[in-house]
Amino acid sequence: MGRQPPAPASAVTDLARGLPSPACAWIYSPERLLARLAALREALAGHTILYAMKACANPAILAAATEAADGIECASAGELGRALEAGASRLAFSGPAKTGRDFARAAAAEADLCVHVERLAELDGLAEAGFGGPVALRVNRGRPLPGSHRMAGEPTPFGIDAAEVPAAAARAAALGLDVVGFHLHAVSNCLDAAAYAAHVTGALAWARGAAAEARIDLRYVNVGGGLGADPRGETIDLAALAAGLEGLDAGGVELVFEPGRYLAAPAGWYLAEVVDVKTVAGRAFAVVRGGTHHFRLPAAWGYSHPFTVVPVDHWAHPWPRPRLDDVEVRVCGELCTPRDVLNAGQRVASLAAGDRLLFADAGAYGWEISHDRFLDHQRPLQIVIDRV
Ligand SMILES: *Cc1c(COP(=O)(O)O)cnc(C)c1O
Repeated sequence: MGRQPPAPASAVTDLARGLPSPACAWIYSPERLLARLAALREALAGHTILYAMKACANPAILAAATEAADGIECASAGELGRALEAGASRLAFSGPAKTGRDFARAAAAEADLCVHVERLAELDGLAEAGFGGPVALRVNRGRPLPGSHRMAGEPTPFGIDAAEVPAAAARAAALGLDVVGFHLHAVSNCLDAAAYAAHVTGALAWARGAAAEARIDLRYVNVGGGLGADPRGETIDLAALAAGLEGLDAGGVELVFEPGRYLAAPAGWYLAEVVDVKTVAGRAFAVVRGGTHHFRLPAAWGYSHPFTVVPVDHWAHPWPRPRLDDVEVRVCGELCTPRDVLNAGQRVASLAAGDRLLFADAGAYGWEISHDRFLDHQRPLQIVIDRV
Protein backbone atom coordinates (compact mmCIF):
# COMPACT_ATOMS: atom_id res chain seq x y z
CA MET A 1 0.00 0.00 0.00
CA GLY A 2 1.20 3.48 -0.85
CA ARG A 3 1.04 6.48 1.31
CA GLN A 4 -2.46 7.45 2.42
CA PRO A 5 -3.59 10.80 1.11
CA PRO A 6 -3.99 13.40 3.81
CA ALA A 7 -7.45 13.55 5.28
CA PRO A 8 -9.44 16.23 3.46
CA ALA A 9 -9.94 19.37 5.46
CA SER A 10 -13.53 19.54 6.53
CA ALA A 11 -15.78 22.14 5.04
CA VAL A 12 -16.18 23.66 8.48
CA THR A 13 -12.44 24.11 8.91
CA ASP A 14 -12.13 25.63 5.45
CA LEU A 15 -14.96 27.98 6.22
CA ALA A 16 -13.46 28.91 9.58
CA ARG A 17 -10.14 29.73 7.94
CA GLY A 18 -11.61 31.69 5.06
CA LEU A 19 -13.96 34.08 6.83
CA PRO A 20 -12.89 37.73 6.83
CA SER A 21 -11.28 39.04 9.99
CA PRO A 22 -12.38 39.43 12.73
CA ALA A 23 -14.28 36.17 12.26
CA CYS A 24 -17.13 35.30 14.57
CA ALA A 25 -19.94 32.99 13.57
CA TRP A 26 -22.39 30.29 14.36
CA ILE A 27 -22.16 27.56 11.74
CA TYR A 28 -24.97 25.06 11.27
CA SER A 29 -25.21 21.79 9.42
CA PRO A 30 -28.76 20.48 8.81
CA GLU A 31 -27.06 17.35 7.43
CA ARG A 32 -25.68 16.58 10.89
CA LEU A 33 -29.12 16.90 12.46
CA LEU A 34 -30.62 14.62 9.81
CA ALA A 35 -27.94 11.97 10.42
CA ARG A 36 -28.73 11.98 14.14
CA LEU A 37 -32.43 11.80 13.44
CA ALA A 38 -31.99 8.82 11.12
CA ALA A 39 -29.98 6.94 13.76
CA LEU A 40 -32.55 7.76 16.42
CA ARG A 41 -35.42 6.62 14.21
CA GLU A 42 -33.77 3.26 13.84
CA ALA A 43 -33.19 2.92 17.59
CA LEU A 44 -36.75 3.92 18.42
CA ALA A 45 -38.21 1.45 15.96
CA GLY A 46 -40.90 3.60 14.41
CA HIS A 47 -42.17 5.49 17.43
CA THR A 48 -43.01 9.14 16.91
CA ILE A 49 -40.26 11.78 17.08
CA LEU A 50 -41.04 15.46 17.53
CA TYR A 51 -38.12 17.91 17.42
CA ALA A 52 -37.97 20.22 20.47
CA MET A 53 -37.12 23.42 18.62
CA LYS A 54 -35.94 25.38 21.65
CA ALA A 55 -32.64 23.46 21.47
CA CYS A 56 -31.83 25.13 18.14
CA ALA A 57 -34.26 27.15 16.06
CA ASN A 58 -31.91 28.28 13.30
CA PRO A 59 -34.23 28.47 10.26
CA ALA A 60 -32.29 25.88 8.23
CA ILE A 61 -32.16 23.48 11.18
CA LEU A 62 -35.86 23.99 11.85
CA ALA A 63 -36.66 23.45 8.17
CA ALA A 64 -34.71 20.19 8.10
CA ALA A 65 -36.38 18.97 11.28
CA THR A 66 -39.80 19.96 9.98
CA GLU A 67 -39.17 17.91 6.88
CA ALA A 68 -37.67 14.83 8.50
CA ALA A 69 -39.16 14.52 12.00
CA ASP A 70 -42.79 13.70 12.66
CA GLY A 71 -43.46 17.14 14.04
CA ILE A 72 -42.16 20.02 16.13
CA GLU A 73 -42.44 20.56 19.86
CA CYS A 74 -42.93 24.21 20.81
CA ALA A 75 -42.74 25.85 24.21
CA SER A 76 -44.14 29.31 23.45
CA ALA A 77 -46.57 31.05 21.12
CA GLY A 78 -43.56 32.57 19.38
CA GLU A 79 -42.09 29.15 18.68
CA LEU A 80 -45.49 27.95 17.53
CA GLY A 81 -45.61 30.78 14.99
CA ARG A 82 -42.13 29.98 13.70
CA ALA A 83 -42.85 26.27 13.42
CA LEU A 84 -46.01 27.01 11.44
CA GLU A 85 -44.07 29.35 9.18
CA ALA A 86 -41.53 26.58 8.62
CA GLY A 87 -44.39 24.43 7.38
CA ALA A 88 -44.83 22.08 10.33
CA SER A 89 -48.10 20.22 10.01
CA ARG A 90 -47.84 18.48 13.36
CA LEU A 91 -47.07 20.26 16.60
CA ALA A 92 -47.00 19.82 20.35
CA PHE A 93 -47.26 22.82 22.63
CA SER A 94 -45.83 22.83 26.17
CA GLY A 95 -44.98 25.52 28.71
CA PRO A 96 -45.83 25.97 32.39
CA ALA A 97 -47.16 29.53 32.14
CA LYS A 98 -49.38 29.55 29.08
CA THR A 99 -51.81 32.46 29.04
CA GLY A 100 -54.60 33.84 26.84
CA ARG A 101 -52.38 34.63 23.88
CA ASP A 102 -51.09 31.07 23.89
CA PHE A 103 -54.57 29.55 24.03
CA ALA A 104 -55.73 31.80 21.19
CA ARG A 105 -52.70 30.88 19.06
CA ALA A 106 -53.28 27.19 19.74
CA ALA A 107 -56.95 27.48 18.80
CA ALA A 108 -56.11 29.34 15.59
CA ALA A 109 -53.29 27.03 14.43
CA GLU A 110 -54.12 25.20 11.24
CA ALA A 111 -52.17 22.08 12.10
CA ASP A 112 -52.44 18.86 14.04
CA LEU A 113 -51.64 20.43 17.40
CA CYS A 114 -51.61 18.65 20.76
CA VAL A 115 -51.51 20.97 23.77
CA HIS A 116 -49.61 19.66 26.77
CA VAL A 117 -51.60 21.02 29.66
CA GLU A 118 -49.57 21.93 32.75
CA ARG A 119 -52.32 23.16 35.13
CA LEU A 120 -56.04 22.64 35.47
CA ALA A 121 -56.94 26.22 34.58
CA GLU A 122 -55.29 25.73 31.18
CA LEU A 123 -58.18 23.47 30.33
CA ASP A 124 -60.60 26.31 30.97
CA GLY A 125 -58.45 28.73 28.98
CA LEU A 126 -58.30 26.36 26.03
CA ALA A 127 -62.04 25.73 26.08
CA GLU A 128 -62.71 29.46 26.29
CA ALA A 129 -60.45 30.06 23.27
CA GLY A 130 -62.39 27.44 21.33
CA PHE A 131 -59.56 24.93 21.07
CA GLY A 132 -60.90 21.74 19.54
CA GLY A 133 -57.75 19.62 19.21
CA PRO A 134 -56.21 16.94 21.39
CA VAL A 135 -54.81 17.70 24.83
CA ALA A 136 -52.38 15.68 26.94
CA LEU A 137 -51.94 16.15 30.67
CA ARG A 138 -48.37 16.89 31.71
CA VAL A 139 -47.79 14.96 34.89
CA ASN A 140 -44.90 14.96 37.34
CA ARG A 141 -44.48 11.31 38.28
CA GLY A 142 -41.93 8.61 38.88
CA ARG A 143 -38.44 8.79 40.25
CA PRO A 144 -35.92 11.38 39.10
CA LEU A 145 -33.76 10.37 36.16
CA PRO A 146 -30.03 11.04 35.99
CA GLY A 147 -29.34 14.09 33.84
CA SER A 148 -28.37 17.75 33.90
CA HIS A 149 -31.88 19.12 34.47
CA ARG A 150 -34.63 17.24 36.26
CA MET A 151 -38.20 18.12 35.43
CA ALA A 152 -40.06 15.32 37.22
CA GLY A 153 -39.76 12.86 40.08
CA GLU A 154 -39.11 15.75 42.47
CA PRO A 155 -40.87 19.05 43.10
CA THR A 156 -40.75 21.22 39.95
CA PRO A 157 -43.08 23.84 38.42
CA PHE A 158 -43.84 21.57 35.46
CA GLY A 159 -47.11 19.73 35.01
CA ILE A 160 -49.61 18.61 37.58
CA ASP A 161 -49.28 16.25 40.48
CA ALA A 162 -50.20 12.66 39.63
CA ALA A 163 -52.95 12.82 42.28
CA GLU A 164 -54.68 15.55 40.25
CA VAL A 165 -55.13 13.44 37.12
CA PRO A 166 -58.72 12.30 37.82
CA ALA A 167 -59.81 15.87 38.61
CA ALA A 168 -58.14 17.15 35.44
CA ALA A 169 -59.77 14.46 33.33
CA ALA A 170 -63.18 15.24 34.79
CA ARG A 171 -62.70 18.97 34.21
CA ALA A 172 -61.65 18.37 30.60
CA ALA A 173 -64.65 16.13 29.99
CA ALA A 174 -66.99 18.75 31.42
CA LEU A 175 -65.46 21.33 29.08
CA GLY A 176 -65.74 19.04 26.06
CA LEU A 177 -61.98 18.73 25.57
CA ASP A 178 -60.44 15.57 24.15
CA VAL A 179 -57.78 14.22 26.54
CA VAL A 180 -55.72 11.77 24.51
CA GLY A 181 -53.12 10.91 27.10
CA PHE A 182 -50.11 12.16 28.98
CA HIS A 183 -46.97 14.20 28.59
CA LEU A 184 -44.20 12.94 30.87
CA HIS A 185 -41.08 14.93 29.95
CA ALA A 186 -38.74 14.29 32.87
CA VAL A 187 -35.11 15.16 32.23
CA SER A 188 -32.49 16.75 30.02
CA ASN A 189 -29.12 15.36 29.01
CA CYS A 190 -29.69 11.83 30.35
CA LEU A 191 -26.64 9.74 29.44
CA ASP A 192 -27.87 6.53 31.08
CA ALA A 193 -29.60 4.53 28.32
CA ALA A 194 -30.89 1.86 30.69
CA ALA A 195 -32.42 4.45 33.01
CA TYR A 196 -34.00 6.21 30.05
CA ALA A 197 -35.46 2.96 28.72
CA ALA A 198 -36.86 2.27 32.19
CA HIS A 199 -38.42 5.74 32.14
CA VAL A 200 -40.16 4.89 28.85
CA THR A 201 -41.49 1.51 29.93
CA GLY A 202 -42.45 2.88 33.33
CA ALA A 203 -44.24 5.83 31.75
CA LEU A 204 -46.27 3.60 29.50
CA ALA A 205 -47.29 1.27 32.30
CA TRP A 206 -48.16 4.17 34.58
CA ALA A 207 -50.18 5.88 31.83
CA ARG A 208 -52.30 2.80 31.30
CA GLY A 209 -53.16 2.61 34.99
CA ALA A 210 -53.78 6.34 35.37
CA ALA A 211 -55.94 6.46 32.24
CA ALA A 212 -58.06 3.56 33.46
CA GLU A 213 -58.55 5.21 36.82
CA ALA A 214 -59.39 8.62 35.34
CA ARG A 215 -61.50 7.22 32.48
CA ILE A 216 -59.23 8.57 29.79
CA ASP A 217 -59.28 6.85 26.41
CA LEU A 218 -55.50 6.48 26.19
CA ARG A 219 -54.08 7.10 22.72
CA TYR A 220 -50.94 9.16 23.39
CA VAL A 221 -47.97 8.83 25.74
CA ASN A 222 -45.27 11.43 25.28
CA VAL A 223 -42.16 10.53 27.28
CA GLY A 224 -40.51 13.88 26.52
CA GLY A 225 -36.98 14.65 25.46
CA GLY A 226 -33.81 14.39 27.46
CA LEU A 227 -31.67 12.03 25.40
CA GLY A 228 -28.16 12.97 26.39
CA ALA A 229 -25.53 14.67 24.24
CA ASP A 230 -23.23 16.24 26.74
CA PRO A 231 -21.22 19.23 25.50
CA ARG A 232 -18.22 17.78 27.36
CA GLY A 233 -18.28 14.76 25.05
CA GLU A 234 -20.48 11.88 26.18
CA THR A 235 -23.60 10.85 24.26
CA ILE A 236 -26.36 8.44 25.23
CA ASP A 237 -25.74 4.95 23.82
CA LEU A 238 -28.45 4.43 21.18
CA ALA A 239 -27.78 0.71 20.85
CA ALA A 240 -28.26 0.29 24.59
CA LEU A 241 -31.42 2.38 24.44
CA ALA A 242 -32.76 0.25 21.58
CA ALA A 243 -31.92 -2.90 23.55
CA GLY A 244 -33.70 -1.52 26.59
CA LEU A 245 -36.82 -0.83 24.55
CA GLU A 246 -36.82 -4.14 22.73
CA GLY A 247 -40.10 -5.97 23.00
CA LEU A 248 -41.89 -2.87 24.26
CA ASP A 249 -45.51 -3.14 23.19
CA ALA A 250 -47.23 0.22 23.02
CA GLY A 251 -50.38 -1.66 22.02
CA GLY A 252 -52.21 0.94 19.98
CA VAL A 253 -50.97 3.86 22.05
CA GLU A 254 -48.81 6.36 20.15
CA LEU A 255 -45.47 6.57 21.93
CA VAL A 256 -43.88 9.98 21.38
CA PHE A 257 -40.34 11.22 21.99
CA GLU A 258 -39.43 14.88 21.74
CA PRO A 259 -35.64 15.26 21.76
CA GLY A 260 -33.95 18.59 21.24
CA ARG A 261 -30.38 18.42 22.52
CA TYR A 262 -29.54 15.01 21.08
CA LEU A 263 -30.51 16.06 17.55
CA ALA A 264 -29.16 19.61 17.57
CA ALA A 265 -25.88 19.21 19.47
CA PRO A 266 -23.68 17.95 16.60
CA ALA A 267 -25.30 20.34 14.10
CA GLY A 268 -23.66 23.54 15.33
CA TRP A 269 -20.19 25.06 15.75
CA TYR A 270 -19.24 28.31 17.37
CA LEU A 271 -16.32 30.03 15.70
CA ALA A 272 -14.34 32.89 17.26
CA GLU A 273 -11.17 34.60 16.08
CA VAL A 274 -8.31 35.07 18.50
CA VAL A 275 -7.75 38.82 18.86
CA ASP A 276 -4.87 38.53 21.31
CA VAL A 277 -2.78 36.02 23.20
CA LYS A 278 -0.86 37.13 26.25
CA THR A 279 0.48 36.05 29.61
CA VAL A 280 -0.72 38.08 32.59
CA ALA A 281 0.29 37.35 36.18
CA GLY A 282 1.56 33.95 35.13
CA ARG A 283 -1.53 32.82 33.23
CA ALA A 284 -1.84 32.49 29.46
CA PHE A 285 -4.91 34.01 27.85
CA ALA A 286 -6.50 33.96 24.43
CA VAL A 287 -8.99 36.77 23.99
CA VAL A 288 -11.49 36.22 21.21
CA ARG A 289 -13.92 38.24 19.13
CA GLY A 290 -17.10 36.81 20.64
CA GLY A 291 -17.62 34.96 23.90
CA THR A 292 -20.27 33.77 26.29
CA HIS A 293 -22.84 36.35 25.13
CA HIS A 294 -22.97 34.32 21.90
CA PHE A 295 -22.26 30.90 23.38
CA ARG A 296 -23.46 30.92 26.96
CA LEU A 297 -23.57 27.20 27.68
CA PRO A 298 -20.01 26.85 29.06
CA ALA A 299 -20.63 29.74 31.47
CA ALA A 300 -24.14 28.55 32.34
CA TRP A 301 -22.95 25.04 33.14
CA GLY A 302 -19.51 25.96 34.43
CA TYR A 303 -17.45 23.77 32.14
CA SER A 304 -14.74 24.26 29.52
CA HIS A 305 -15.97 23.63 26.00
CA PRO A 306 -13.25 21.84 23.98
CA PHE A 307 -12.01 23.63 20.87
CA THR A 308 -9.75 23.05 17.92
CA VAL A 309 -7.34 25.65 16.64
CA VAL A 310 -7.70 26.56 12.98
CA PRO A 311 -4.34 28.18 12.20
CA VAL A 312 -4.38 31.14 9.86
CA ASP A 313 -1.16 32.02 8.03
CA HIS A 314 -2.18 35.46 6.99
CA TRP A 315 -1.35 38.42 9.26
CA ALA A 316 -2.43 41.73 7.74
CA HIS A 317 -1.35 44.12 10.48
CA PRO A 318 1.82 46.24 10.69
CA TRP A 319 2.41 45.32 14.33
CA PRO A 320 4.04 42.06 15.53
CA ARG A 321 1.78 39.05 15.74
CA PRO A 322 1.30 37.81 19.33
CA ARG A 323 1.95 34.07 19.69
CA LEU A 324 2.17 31.47 22.47
CA ASP A 325 3.61 27.97 22.16
CA ASP A 326 2.88 24.79 24.10
CA VAL A 327 0.80 26.38 26.78
CA GLU A 328 -2.46 25.89 28.65
CA VAL A 329 -4.57 28.78 27.57
CA ARG A 330 -7.69 30.36 29.08
CA VAL A 331 -10.08 31.38 26.32
CA CYS A 332 -11.94 34.56 27.21
CA GLY A 333 -14.42 36.66 25.28
CA GLU A 334 -14.86 40.34 24.57
CA LEU A 335 -17.08 41.12 27.57
CA CYS A 336 -15.89 43.21 30.51
CA THR A 337 -16.31 40.43 33.04
CA PRO A 338 -13.86 37.74 34.19
CA ARG A 339 -16.73 35.24 33.84
CA ASP A 340 -16.66 35.47 30.07
CA VAL A 341 -14.72 32.20 29.75
CA LEU A 342 -15.32 29.59 27.06
CA ASN A 343 -12.51 27.31 28.18
CA ALA A 344 -10.59 27.66 31.44
CA GLY A 345 -7.41 25.97 30.24
CA GLN A 346 -6.81 23.76 27.24
CA ARG A 347 -3.29 22.98 26.10
CA VAL A 348 -2.40 24.27 22.65
CA ALA A 349 0.75 23.48 20.68
CA SER A 350 0.75 26.95 19.22
CA LEU A 351 -1.69 29.80 19.12
CA ALA A 352 -1.39 33.20 17.49
CA ALA A 353 -3.61 36.22 17.16
CA GLY A 354 -5.64 35.83 14.00
CA ASP A 355 -6.08 32.07 14.40
CA ARG A 356 -9.63 30.84 14.76
CA LEU A 357 -11.07 28.63 17.47
CA LEU A 358 -13.76 26.17 16.53
CA PHE A 359 -16.07 24.85 19.24
CA ALA A 360 -17.80 21.73 17.89
CA ASP A 361 -20.94 19.98 19.18
CA ALA A 362 -22.27 23.35 20.26
CA GLY A 363 -25.55 23.32 18.35
CA ALA A 364 -27.92 22.63 21.25
CA TYR A 365 -28.76 25.42 23.68
CA GLY A 366 -25.90 27.47 22.24
CA TRP A 367 -27.00 30.67 20.52
CA GLU A 368 -30.58 30.03 21.69
CA ILE A 369 -29.87 30.61 25.37
CA SER A 370 -27.31 33.37 24.94
CA HIS A 371 -27.56 37.04 25.84
CA ASP A 372 -25.99 38.96 23.00
CA ARG A 373 -27.59 42.29 23.97
CA PHE A 374 -25.09 42.63 26.83
CA LEU A 375 -22.44 45.22 25.82
CA ASP A 376 -23.93 45.63 22.35
CA HIS A 377 -21.13 43.96 20.42
CA GLN A 378 -21.64 43.02 16.81
CA ARG A 379 -23.66 39.86 16.40
CA PRO A 380 -22.03 36.68 15.11
CA LEU A 381 -22.71 35.64 11.53
CA GLN A 382 -25.18 32.79 11.13
CA ILE A 383 -23.90 30.44 8.43
CA VAL A 384 -25.45 27.25 7.11
CA ILE A 385 -23.33 24.67 5.35
CA ASP A 386 -24.68 22.01 3.02
CA ARG A 387 -22.01 19.39 3.56
CA VAL A 388 -19.58 18.84 6.41
C1 LIG B 1 -36.76 21.24 26.49
C2 LIG B 1 -37.84 20.26 26.29
C3 LIG B 1 -37.62 19.15 25.49
C4 LIG B 1 -36.30 18.82 24.87
O1 LIG B 1 -35.38 18.46 25.84
P1 LIG B 1 -33.91 17.94 25.42
O2 LIG B 1 -33.24 17.71 26.70
O3 LIG B 1 -33.30 19.03 24.62
O4 LIG B 1 -34.10 16.71 24.62
C5 LIG B 1 -38.68 18.31 25.27
N1 LIG B 1 -39.89 18.53 25.84
C6 LIG B 1 -40.12 19.58 26.64
C7 LIG B 1 -41.45 19.77 27.22
C8 LIG B 1 -39.10 20.48 26.90
O5 LIG B 1 -39.32 21.51 27.72
